[in-house]
Amino acid sequence: MINREKFQNKLNCTCNENVLFELIDDVECDWGNHTVIQCPNCEEIFSVDCECPAFQNILKLTKYNNLLYSDLEKLEYLKDSHQK
Ligand SMILES: [Zn+2]
Ligand SMILES: [Zn+2]
Repeated sequence: MINREKFQNKLNCTCNENVLFELIDDVECDWGNHTVIQCPNCEEIFSVDCECPAFQNILKLTKYNNLLYSDLEKLEYLKDSHQK
């Protein structure tokens, strides 16, 4: 479950820029597909629905954006991973 509104405001990216991420649905990885966000500055891609080795981990962004994911959302993000 993704709260899309989270990504309609500017966020701090790991490249240290404050950017409006582009939200992209149905991006395929080797194990399924994801909703991802892409930084328009550094072009880094983060999966927003669950952890995936093909993309950056959104939890890296929560270090720069404290309110982005709640503790529960972080748990679900990791739990839904198909990596395990
Ligand atoms: Zn960036
Ligand atoms: Zn994946």
